[in-house]
Amino acid sequence: MASDSEPTPASHSDQTFDVLVIGAGIIGLSIARQFLIGSDLSVAVIDKAVPCSGATGAGQGYIWMASKTVGSEGWELALRSQKLWEELAESLKDQGLDPLQLLGWKKTGSLLVGRTPEESDKLKRMVQQQCEAGLRAEYLSASDLHVKEPELMVDKDTGAAFLPDDSQLNARRAAEFLEKGNRHYSSKGRYAEFYNDPVISLLRSGSSGEVEAIKTSRNILHSKKAIVVAAGCWSGSLMSDLLRESEIVLDIPVKPRKGHLLVLENFNSFQLNHGLMEAGYIDHHHTAVPLPSVSTSGLLDDHDGQALSVSMTATMDTMGNIVLGSSRQFAGFCTEVEESIVNRIWGRAGEFFPKLREKPLSDFSQSREVRVGLRPYMPDGKPVIGPVPGLANVFLATGHEGEGLTMALGTAEMLADMVLGNPQKVDSTPFAVHGRF
Ligand SMILES: Cc1cc2nc3c(=O)[nH]c(=O)nc-3n(C[C@H](O)[C@H](O)[C@H](O)COP(=O)(O)OP(=O)(O)OC[C@H]3O[C@@H](n4cnc5c(N)ncnc54)[C@H](O)[C@@H]3O)c2cc1C
Repeated sequence: MASDSEPTPASHSDQTFDVLVIGAGIIGLSIARQFLIGSDLSVAVIDKAVPCSGATGAGQGYIWMASKTVGSEGWELALRSQKLWEELAESLKDQGLDPLQLLGWKKTGSLLVGRTPEESDKLKRMVQQQCEAGLRAEYLSASDLHVKEPELMVDKDTGAAFLPDDSQLNARRAAEFLEKGNRHYSSKGRYAEFYNDPVISLLRSGSSGEVEAIKTSRNILHSKKAIVVAAGCWSGSLMSDLLRESEIVLDIPVKPRKGHLLVLENFNSFQLNHGLMEAGYIDHHHTAVPLPSVSTSGLLDDHDGQALSVSMTATMDTMGNIVLGSSRQFAGFCTEVEESIVNRIWGRAGEFFPKLREKPLSDFSQSREVRVGLRPYMPDGKPVIGPVPGLANVFLATGHEGEGLTMALGTAEMLADMVLGNPQKVDSTPFAVHGRF
């Protein structure tokens, strides 16, 4: 029998579960967890590789409201999700466990930094709206900001939005925590994993047309209740493959948006007290179509026609590493490290933290890691969460772009409530598949 800490070995056969979750990224693992803790249904998670092999493994870990727009369609979901992460961290503390250890969870607060009068004005307006929406938020002048983050370069035009309740986690630790928690249910016969086993097709009943099972490279897995496609940026192509033989036409326009992060291990040149991000990040994140090369700030330019953008993000993780980001580009499904982009991230970070300019990046060649991930980008800027029209028991949960860690627990709750027929905590209408594509 599998122990709680070991995966249930996948046997090469027909098996039946209530819920099948395709994709073991942060979204799929969170959805599996939600069914396990919130119902008595059995769950299988299927992945073509292993957890964290997708975007999740590259995530920086911001669980932030600072970069969200009050009243936007994703606002309530992000707010709910942030609350659920916080409740999870608190519940671990109540059990005598350490969320810092288990999730990399730190309530560092966030600083969204502006460097021009225009950016500062925008940040002041954002802070006002955030306060009106009930968040703790404060606009910091250059001198106040310097006290909070002494290594950040400030001048008279610098200012920041400060949200003390924003937090961060370590994406890989959080995924591991969710995975381990899910495995507790395997000894009860309610949970199994099928890794390195890509989903290939859907098997539908001849009479009703309902999807009865999925075929993977090694197994036939039957579903009694729901099949959830949480396959990140692969969800669109996977759905096309799965629907190839059917009369249903569904084009989910989710695209891979490549991102690089630069991690300098055991970094001891200085400490960061908060999570930081430049104000321009918000525009890069929400930019719906690739932009031409017009920026004077160096934030946006053309990179072989891929509309590369690099905006400064900086966090310190629980191991004492500094994590610097991040880039955005459309480069298909390629996950190769591009050294020119790493250099740009380094250069951009040096504009904000002068101490970084004291050493060349080559000095860190023995102690650096570059993470690359493919964010699931949706052209309309919001995730897709809901049933697939024409296939009542097949659900989609993807398209979170740069907010999947933040929105994971809220998405999981929303999706499970839909399947279980529970009242919705957050209106799911903006995320519906129906009528959108
Ligand atoms: C550089 C970078 C920094 C980021 N920073 C943050 C941050 O600070 N805060 C934040 O909230 N978000 C951040 N994000 C975004 C976040 O990481 C993503 O939104 C999130 O990880 C998406 O999770 P997912 O589960 O949808 O996708 P993924 O993690 O990509 O998981 C999808 C899974 O589906 C599997 N799969 C695909 N096809 C199949 C198939 N046919 N059969 C079976 N399995 C399949 C894949 O193997 C993969 O494991 C960042 C992303 C990047 C790249």
